[in-house]
Amino acid sequence: MIEHTTPERALAVFAHPDDPEVGAGGTLARWASLGSEVHLVIANRGDKGSHDPATDPDALAEHRAEEVARAAEVLGLAGVEHLGYPDGEIENDPGLRGRLLEVIRRLRPDAVIAPDPTAVFFGDSYVNHRDHRQLGWAVLDTLVPAASPLYAPTAGPAHQVSLVLLAGTLEANAWVDVSAVLDTKVAAVSCHESRIGGEPELVAELLEQRAAEEGQRAGIAHAEAFRRLRFS
Ligand SMILES: [Zn+2]
Repeated sequence: MIEHTTPERALAVFAHPDDPEVGAGGTLARWASLGSEVHLVIANRGDKGSHDPATDPDALAEHRAEEVARAAEVLGLAGVEHLGYPDGEIENDPGLRGRLLEVIRRLRPDAVIAPDPTAVFFGDSYVNHRDHRQLGWAVLDTLVPAASPLYAPTAGPAHQVSLVLLAGTLEANAWVDVSAVLDTKVAAVSCHESRIGGEPELVAELLEQRAAEEGQRAGIAHAEAFRRLRFS
């Protein structure tokens, strides 16, 4: 139930610039603090993450990339890569899967964190973003080809990922203890000023509350919840 693994190398793949911190920032910070080499891939530019119609999408994307870099430093990540897809334009197609396969074979992570693509309805007031769902499927659909040498033979030696944690899930079966790094998660989320506006205290309170709820389900103080898959 509680996931105690500290992978030697981990790769988180998320759609929009603030998704990793919100969905798995505690786990990424925990692993990095325990000596893991943690890499992050952001698929989307974050260029449409504003309700203000006067926003310049390119300037917003640039600003959000800076926020990603600051958050990565707070979390202690080893590296961040941007795939550069415009918001709303992620497709689980051979092009995206080829890029993900290249990243997986190059970085050779023991553990991968990605969005749970099966999560669609959160209560009755939120439909999961299509980019999250498309990317989640693309990551899952890349695992077998990445581990099979006859797929993309020129993209580096085959690599089997052993642990997959799917974030933003409705069917959690594993919890990571983030009690010791909750402040780091809050600080990393707070780097995304363009998203949280002038309400950092409210954001901190919500993150604490959410982590405490998941902690209660796992019998610990603060946790992040995932759907866990194991491969050997
Ligand atoms: Zn998102």
